[in-house]
Amino acid sequence: MQNIYSNIINFNSNNLQKIIRILKKGGIIGLPTETVYGLAGSAYSAKAINRIYKVKNRPNKNPLIIHYYNLKQAEKDVILNEKFYKIYNKLSPGPITYIVKKKIKTNICPKACSKLKTVGIRFPKNKIIRQILKTIKFPLAMPSANKSSSISSVSPIDVSEEFKNKVIVVNGGYSKIGIESTVINLVGKISILRPGKITPNQLEKILKHKINFAMSSKILRSPGLLKKHYSPNIPILLNQKKCPKKHAFITFGKKYPVTRNSFNLSRKSNLNEAAKNLYKFFRIIKNQKYKKIYISPIPNKGIGYAINDRIIRAAK
Ligand code: AMP
Ligand code: MG
Repeated sequence: MQNIYSNIINFNSNNLQKIIRILKKGGIIGLPTETVYGLAGSAYSAKAINRIYKVKNRPNKNPLIIHYYNLKQAEKDVILNEKFYKIYNKLSPGPITYIVKKKIKTNICPKACSKLKTVGIRFPKNKIIRQILKTIKFPLAMPSANKSSSISSVSPIDVSEEFKNKVIVVNGGYSKIGIESTVINLVGKISILRPGKITPNQLEKILKHKINFAMSSKILRSPGLLKKHYSPNIPILLNQKKCPKKHAFITFGKKYPVTRNSFNLSRKSNLNEAAKNLYKFFRIIKNQKYKKIYISPIPNKGIGYAINDRIIRAAK
């Protein structure tokens, strides 16, 4: 049997050359970022983009985020406005994706943006991905490295489990943040399309006006609108105070007992630690073949809002 971990490579100068060769030829590769692992291919290569959609089994209508090293690279492909620069100067590189207008003449493969006139762009902070982007000088289309609608990967082993030996993965250890970037729409009415580590409050302070969530992210008012995503494909019960022994219990805070079936996101009630553990626990629970997941309440503030967003979608 093929060792599924044999496709994990370390990041060194030899392997950097190998990574560049793969990407230049329109190949795809699993790469670490500070949010979650990505499945990367050249944004300018139709071959790479087709392969990303195929390997992930991703619906064509779901566009990919394009990752850049710096502004100079991005300015070739997209039209940036004043609000973009204000946020960029404070928060990039980092865990925020901007939806901006695409230039009419650009090398970005139309399929990567699902043929939309807008593009989601991000400037990741992780050192490995930055070194790669700096060297290749073209942007990388990079959705999360998981099968469509499944749990995002937060370690190279997760990526290997998702795609077996179909892709090489660069080892960057555990993802620092552990959930996907905040997505802000800067075309037309400004809104947050996906909550993340960067909160509306931070963005409101920079732009000096209120920013709302787009419809599909109003998690508490209209959970029925959310589509299934980020899911371990096991029934999930939210807001539980206790849990039968045979089921997995994801908890938050020190008041919950330590038992064989309990997975505490953060005994110290630290929401950043909880975000980092969420997908890791989903995957462990799935691999241990639990039939149901109970989840205790998680405070809906800061990154907690993003955690609740992911949990509610996973429970769909
Ligand atoms: P992921 O599946 O982790 O790659 O998530 C990418 C997210 O960015 C999805 O929620 C997409 O819908 C969103 N996104 C990317 N590009 C665009 C775009 N041009 N317009 C709107 N949303 C986008
Ligand atoms: Mg994803």
